[in-house]
Amino acid sequence: MEKLKKGLVPRLFIAFAVSAFVALGSAGAVFAGTVETAVAAAPVQATAASAAEERDQIFMLVALAVVNKDWQTTNGAGSRGYNIGSVLVDANNNVLWWARNCVNCNSNGTQHGEVRLMTQYQQATRNFSLKGYTIYTSLEPCAMCGGMMCMQSVARTVFAQKDPDFGDGIQRLALDSTKLGPPPAGYSPYPRTLPSVPSTLAFYGAINDAYTQWRNAGNTGLTKFLATPIAQKLYAAATNQLMTYQVQFPENQQVYVNALTFYRKIPTCPTGKICCDVPQTSPKKVKAKAQEIPATSSK
Ligand SMILES: [Zn+2]
Repeated sequence: MEKLKKGLVPRLFIAFAVSAFVALGSAGAVFAGTVETAVAAAPVQATAASAAEERDQIFMLVALAVVNKDWQTTNGAGSRGYNIGSVLVDANNNVLWWARNCVNCNSNGTQHGEVRLMTQYQQATRNFSLKGYTIYTSLEPCAMCGGMMCMQSVARTVFAQKDPDFGDGIQRLALDSTKLGPPPAGYSPYPRTLPSVPSTLAFYGAINDAYTQWRNAGNTGLTKFLATPIAQKLYAAATNQLMTYQVQFPENQQVYVNALTFYRKIPTCPTGKICCDVPQTSPKKVKAKAQEIPATSSK
């Protein structure tokens, strides 16, 4: 009971703050509420300092909308997987591929969104490496996904939520601890690494704050949080922002239109179905459709 009481105030706060965030929707206005409403304090449509930053924001909104398009209300059995997804963008600002976490429907813990993004795209295009590509992912990459990005020469990755537990995988690879002595005391940085940067979208602060509040209320588990109505509202707001986006830098207008077109072509999962391996075709270079991984059962 005490736990419930302790959790009530933060939950009400989050509910209000998220409502304010969502209510602002596409207004693009700066929320002028009380100091307490930190979650909603940032502008809904962040002001980009440069055309490159605005493109980062647009592509991240696509990644968030990809997750929202097949929102899972549970993170456990009977779900596709976790509410995490990503998109792959080439050096010419083309969104080439999307993927979502599918650990549950594949009964395979390696099926993170970023792993699927890289392996499916490369299988479809027969590309040996992803040199020069950027990956926009809704949650900070783990060591497995970050390591794979390094090995595939991905140029850069941008994430929309910090993972306090499994995050910083790429930074840990880049860590130089040689001053502690020779191995096993210390190690030189991994030979290859890449920048891993947080999104400048207002979503970043909003979802991190909401997750902190949720944990402070006595809850645990990031993927469990990502199946809550609180998280869903933030993802729905981000999707709305993508759909109604007002481009700041004219040179990004076509980039936005192309990104939106890419997103709209992603099929909607029928209600009650689990959409595990959705075939997709890249707008360029792809001759064969992505290989579907047939579901196997040991039963
Ligand atoms: Zn991962």
